[in-house]
Amino acid sequence: MGRNFVAHAHELGNEVPGEPLLFMKPAAAMVSLDGPIQVSQDLGELHHEAEIAVLVGSALTAADAGQVQAAIAGIGLGLDLTLRELQSRLKKKGHPWERAKAFDGSCPLSRFVPIQDFASLTGIELRFSVNGELRQQGSSAQMIFDIVALLVEISGVFSLDPGDVVLTGTPAGVGPLYDGDHFEFELPGYLSISSSIRR
Ligand code: ZN
Repeated sequence: MGRNFVAHAHELGNEVPGEPLLFMKPAAAMVSLDGPIQVSQDLGELHHEAEIAVLVGSALTAADAGQVQAAIAGIGLGLDLTLRELQSRLKKKGHPWERAKAFDGSCPLSRFVPIQDFASLTGIELRFSVNGELRQQGSSAQMIFDIVALLVEISGVFSLDPGDVVLTGTPAGVGPLYDGDHFEFELPGYLSISSSIRR
């Protein structure tokens, strides 16, 4: 989902959405966050969008909140890697974003922590640092559309299958990644990943 945090919508000059802004990435976008993460597209600035990732464990079609809660299998971390200059050109033309966001390797993912290990879906935090500098931090409590509401909405538009992953939007602080950058990506209390970027 795009623009699920007010401060991030504002930092890119976008409106806060009245309904979830949805786009998809193909299976070949998924790679391991353990890296090093190689992005060879020579199409301008590559931005990190650090996001909480939700693993779907069973099929959802036009689901209600209870069905969504029963279908969530795990929580992890995902990077919605974005070729920002290319995305800006596409947005100006009113074109879809997939050229900028759905290329091979555009969705590095962590392993998933079983949902049973979380007391609740509100208050799940993330932190993302580049070369020792904290760039992004946020909590599921700050989402405009919370995790359950988001999956209810999505499943009313297109069916979700077991193994699908939903990235839930990025907090403020997106920015460029350069060749050799090291990053730390944390789901505090659950996961801590150190990795790097090759361009
Ligand atoms: Zn994103």
